[in-house]
Amino acid sequence: MPELPEVETVARGLRQAILGRRILSVTLGKTDFIDDPAALEQHLPGRQIEAVERYGKFMLLRLSAGGENRVAANGDAAPASLLVHLGMTGQIAPSPAGQPLEKHTHVCLLLDDGRELRYTDARRFGRIAYLTKELLAEELSGFGADPLEVSKEEFADRICGRRARIKALLLDQSALRGVGNIYADESLWKAKIHPARLGANLSRKQTHTLRRVLQDILRKAIVLRGSSISDFLDAEGEPGEYQRHHRAYGREGKNCCRCKTLIRRAIVAGRSSYFCPRCQPSPRGFMALPPAGKNERKSKHRNASHAEKPQTRNRKSP
Ligand SMILES: [Zn+2]
Repeated sequence: MPELPEVETVARGLRQAILGRRILSVTLGKTDFIDDPAALEQHLPGRQIEAVERYGKFMLLRLSAGGENRVAANGDAAPASLLVHLGMTGQIAPSPAGQPLEKHTHVCLLLDDGRELRYTDARRFGRIAYLTKELLAEELSGFGADPLEVSKEEFADRICGRRARIKALLLDQSALRGVGNIYADESLWKAKIHPARLGANLSRKQTHTLRRVLQDILRKAIVLRGSSISDFLDAEGEPGEYQRHHRAYGREGKNCCRCKTLIRRAIVAGRSSYFCPRCQPSPRGFMALPPAGKNERKSKHRNASHAEKPQTRNRKSP
């Protein structure tokens, strides 16, 4: 599933490509991942895309107030937002309107320069929602800090007071927004912290280290346009390159880049977690899964990269 760096990459691409364009019309295909499909058709035409922002793992297209002939009563006199969550396989990019549709194209927004902003999603675990100011405020209220902006003290406070496992805390969007399985495992490996350690048992110093390496890793991944596991593509249709720099995620049975011990896998917080048993000592009594045999490894890796359920499709915790 696209995490902070992948979503940031797509948002930057869209900013380059569609900022300032006006939406002329809306064509929808399958709509089971859209909160209120009729609201898109009713409220998007006439609005200008004024900003593209990332918020956690989703994007917000900030829209101008509707056109002059719109009635104030239906809310079109006020600015609004289009929330886009890519789920596992969502892609959003502009194409010339005359270009044939890719398979699984479910939303086309005709723009005033003759292109269409198209959303494709084979598995439809994504989400699109038209949100007024009030609905947006409600939507955003449950989220924690942005990991790139959170201060050292706030980060420590959000971790040290909690009896949950550190891996679960990193994935908890109400604690930090935007981190998923890949960057949680990578930052814990870098910080030499076992994913099953309890937040409350980490020292302040360890949380400072974790915050620093998490930020370094996220920034580096943004520069490399994210990790292309399964089928992530950016707004220009290009894969990311950060997967070449993974040190733990998806590397079960391979050598740790620091100490050459074989990377192991365990289920922590309900997710496959990859770690070095030597660099990241486990809490007492914690069992990793048995090392993968040669025959098993392939299927387990596939499991790690493709088959993990997205956390949820509901509105509170994307
Ligand atoms: Zn190691």
